[in-house]
Amino acid sequence: MRASAYPLIDADEAATLVLERTSVLGIERVKLADSVGRVLAEDLVAEAPLPPFRSSAVDGYAIRAADAGTTLRVLGESAAGRPFEGTVSAGTAARILTGGVVPDGADTVVMVEDTRLDGSRLKVPTDLSAGANFHKVGDDLRVGDRILAAGTLLGAAEIGIAAATGRAELPVRRRPRVALMSTGDELVEVGKAARPGQIPDSNRWALLAALREAGAEVEVLGIAPDEPEALRRLVVDALARTDALVTSGGVSVGTHDLVKPLLESLGTVHVGRVKLKPGKPFTFATLDGGRVAFGLPGFPVSSLVTFEVFVRPALRKMQGFSRLHRPTLPVRLGYDARPTAERTEYQRVTLRRDGQELVAETTGSQSSSRLMSLAGAHALVRVPAGDELLQKGSIVEAMILSLP
Ligand code: AMP
Ligand code: MG
Repeated sequence: MRASAYPLIDADEAATLVLERTSVLGIERVKLADSVGRVLAEDLVAEAPLPPFRSSAVDGYAIRAADAGTTLRVLGESAAGRPFEGTVSAGTAARILTGGVVPDGADTVVMVEDTRLDGSRLKVPTDLSAGANFHKVGDDLRVGDRILAAGTLLGAAEIGIAAATGRAELPVRRRPRVALMSTGDELVEVGKAARPGQIPDSNRWALLAALREAGAEVEVLGIAPDEPEALRRLVVDALARTDALVTSGGVSVGTHDLVKPLLESLGTVHVGRVKLKPGKPFTFATLDGGRVAFGLPGFPVSSLVTFEVFVRPALRKMQGFSRLHRPTLPVRLGYDARPTAERTEYQRVTLRRDGQELVAETTGSQSSSRLMSLAGAHALVRVPAGDELLQKGSIVEAMILSLP
């Protein structure tokens, strides 16, 4: 073992540094069918009012409110998509169906169940007010209204409103292209028989899932042996095609830990050690061409926790998301939490509702090799560095992964 040359950086400081060095990616236009899960790159502004015409909200009759309590002559019908061409004047009505255009001259719609029809004679109630039962032009959107802000995640409702305003394509940020590599002589492909001392390359699959969930397109480079030249070849070949490199393993101070020297030879290492548990050896570098590289620790929990703290927000920044971080909520500790001196700790917890509060229960041993501490966890509870026990009942901040 050798002493690390890298200063121990505060976890928040390291997170800020990562984001400062990560750039937003370019814009591409995609068809609505391909837009779900993408991030809108420009504000969407209404160029036409919505609805574009006075549109009936019910089945009934378009009339003039001044004709309340009288008997009217029905002139014709305005169905959805088939407007009535004439004008409703005093003493007349037009039958109207939901979504139909309210004809000129009419100022209100009376519901069919409030009327009585006798041949072509329509009896309307006495209590009518103008403007009832139809949507006015621009009720939902007026010309110039901002429909969606740049940085919005496109989901069902957002795509629906874009479609309603006639957009067939949307400008979105390019997805980050990420090269993913596992390092370690002990690793074997999942599904292949392990020789003594070998373990399956499980981080690849966990990180592949995490990357995709965060919006990345992933190129899996596979397993690199603990051999500097092999490592370099695998990475250099892939770099031309990627925006980011994510590696696992090989960042601590053991003699087989080759990722930091590799990143130093390819660019600049900005973070080499962090006051974070798990995840102290987390490494961040910038490479030529605006690329970023994340050297995640090999322990399965460490790699996923540092992914959450550093990589996911960076991938979201690349995609232009307006919100980079997972939501946080104050929660009440359901157990005594022992802090770590000098290091911010993210403890894995499940959450349960207790009245108005959320109570956090530990997922058990918080060993950084024990992925069972993260499987099924609802949140990462942030335990500030310290020496004093954080007692059960204390309020702490939780990064929410999912709610119970
Ligand atoms: P390292 O950071 O390379 O020193 O690895 C720390 C620990 O994580 C060791 O016990 C490794 O065997 C384990 N580890 C490293 N890479 C992986 C991986 N891809 N999948 C599962 N465990 C790993
Ligand atoms: Mg290793």
